[in-house]
Amino acid sequence: MNATEAVNATVITVRIARDGKRYPADRVLPPEQRQQAHALAHGLVHRDKLSIRQAQRELLEVHAIRRSVGSIFSDLHRYQCSRCAE
Ligand SMILES: [Zn+2]
Repeated sequence: MNATEAVNATVITVRIARDGKRYPADRVLPPEQRQQAHALAHGLVHRDKLSIRQAQRELLEVHAIRRSVGSIFSDLHRYQCSRCAE
C-alpha cells in the first residue's frame, strides 16, 4: 500500500449534532461547542454527581459530543459553575 492508499483508507467517524449536521468525531470542536462541552461535562459531574464515564456516555448519547475520559477530566477544571464559585 502506498501513502495515497493509506490516506484514502482512513475511516472518518462522524457525529450528528442536534442541528442535524455531521461533524468529525473526536476532533477539535468549534469554540462555542467546546464551551458547551466544558459546561455540560462539568455540570454532569459536579451538579449531577456522575462519574466521568457516566458523563462520557451522557455526552455521547444525549448531546452527540464524543469526548475522551481525559478530555472530560480537563473540562472539569476549565469551567466554573455557580456552585464552584460559592
Ligand atoms: Zn462546579
